[in-house]
Amino acid sequence: MGEEGQRKLLASSAVIVGCGAIGASAAQLLARAGVGRLRVIDRDFVEPSNLQRQALFDENDAREALPKAAAAERKLRLLNSEIEIDGVVSDVRPENIHETLSGFDLILDGTDNFETRFLLNDFAVGQARPWIYAAAVGSYGLTFAIRPEITACLVCLLETPDGRPDAGPIADETCDTVGVLGPIVSLIASLEVAEALKILSGNTEALHGRLLSCDVWSGRMQSIAMSRNPRCRACVRHEYSYLTGESQPHITMCGRDSVQIHERRRALDLGVVAGKLSGAGIQVKKNDFLLKFAVPPYEMTVFGDGRAILKGSTEPAVARSLYARYIGA
Ligand SMILES: [Zn+2]
Repeated sequence: MGEEGQRKLLASSAVIVGCGAIGASAAQLLARAGVGRLRVIDRDFVEPSNLQRQALFDENDAREALPKAAAAERKLRLLNSEIEIDGVVSDVRPENIHETLSGFDLILDGTDNFETRFLLNDFAVGQARPWIYAAAVGSYGLTFAIRPEITACLVCLLETPDGRPDAGPIADETCDTVGVLGPIVSLIASLEVAEALKILSGNTEALHGRLLSCDVWSGRMQSIAMSRNPRCRACVRHEYSYLTGESQPHITMCGRDSVQIHERRRALDLGVVAGKLSGAGIQVKKNDFLLKFAVPPYEMTVFGDGRAILKGSTEPAVARSLYARYIGA
């Protein structure tokens, strides 16, 4: 990369959407490499079950139930104090994607769902920004760097002619059913960041332009040339349906018996809510970002932006009714 590449890296910026397993590993590599401005966006908080594969977090973060974006920001600052880092506790949706992702040279996929990935694709292609797709489940993972107008995009790769995503095994099996093995996470994050560093340091001629897939259990590795779909909805016809469509709240939480709801579109005063719950005899745990309380067999976590994650059920209806009862409309 040389001195000039390193200087370009320091002048560059990247945003990582989702700071779970792959996102946390990628963020760490980018911060250590000296990317000048990093933003990490995540909607979730750290739990003990994350620690097996999520490199940036520790038992203290889980005990405090810190949002992953806040815990990541703190850790990344310790790794490199010479770069700008900000953690954003939020769910990327059509309504806030411009506000949260604009102005960055590169977008990296750290998400756990295809709804958000297609949204990222539509945004990046529309803005002519590169982004890197990365996903892992079980012992298998894959990654592909997308450069609008040059390479295929995610829609070229995955969308069927009738507009439905067909992501194959990666979508059929989720972290809920098979889990994710730590080593595949590090491997995919490393492959993703290698391409990121080439883009950000101005070495685009070094990009391999291939979809890489690996299975650390079977030892099968593939490197596949992907061509653009000449009728692609996104990168050829410029129809960005995920950007214009009504947002679907991302209600399932990967790998947990939990569901997220996000219906109230305004901020909550967590102090007021905590007071109300305590007054009703409910024990509340609170930090600067969220509050948690238990209504056995459920546990609800409520964020300042009004979102809530209910543990103990995957039924949005259960979450909605508890939210209405304990937080209010
Ligand atoms: Zn395309």
